[in-house]
Amino acid sequence: MEPKYKRIILKVSGEALAGDNKFGLNTQVINNISKHIKKCHDMGVEIAIVVGGGNFWRGRTGEGMDRATADYIGMLATVMNALALQDSLEQLDLQVRVQSAIEMRQISESYIRRRAIRHLEKGRIVIFASGTGNPFFSTDTAASLRAAEIEAEAILSAKNIDGVYNKDPNEHDDAIKYDELTYLDILDQGLKVIDSTAASLCMDNDIPLLIFAIDPPENIEKVVCGEKIGTIIK
Ligand code: UDP
Repeated sequence: MEPKYKRIILKVSGEALAGDNKFGLNTQVINNISKHIKKCHDMGVEIAIVVGGGNFWRGRTGEGMDRATADYIGMLATVMNALALQDSLEQLDLQVRVQSAIEMRQISESYIRRRAIRHLEKGRIVIFASGTGNPFFSTDTAASLRAAEIEAEAILSAKNIDGVYNKDPNEHDDAIKYDELTYLDILDQGLKVIDSTAASLCMDNDIPLLIFAIDPPENIEKVVCGEKIGTIIK
């Protein structure tokens, strides 16, 4: 298989790392995801990963809590996921660097754009942790921002759902899956698939977003090779 992209951002939601447990880390699931990330890496694709934190904590989990504080807890959750994924990828002999948007000198590098690009050029996988480093944002926004910064050709968003629907497919049997959407559709229709900040950032910078199911993780290679699964937003 030939890759369609030279450099990508792979967004892995926190939930995708939890598997059926829905909470915390499922080592088997993570190792399986890593195996398929390695396959993409072996095809010569430069891969930077943005990890979510929803398997531990989301800002809105902190009911009654100061929003910024709740969001900082969410950002710390992404760091745990980043370290777990780093470990799993390293077990496959890949070279990995975690860069955190919040300084954490003892456990990761700090985010430095030029350094991240250099790692990618050297064939290392870079994992971006702590989202954007700012409360009131999401890791989807972090993925859009980092994609623009490192000039990634696309964001591949691996989720627990296989694409974007007109309504929640868990609640409505007649929900319809979209193959293709524009960022304006997302913003106009208020589709909850990514937040509006992330959508506008991708729209303004012409970065396509491909949303697909992480299960089975072979999907990662398929999307990297341009196979049309899930929903593409342009
Ligand atoms: N977060 C934040 N700023 C960022 C990225 C993340 O405040 O730039 C916080 C926010 O509270 C969010 C949580 O971290 O709910 C976990 O990230 P997210 O919900 O995006 O993870 P995912 O849904 O992808 O697992």
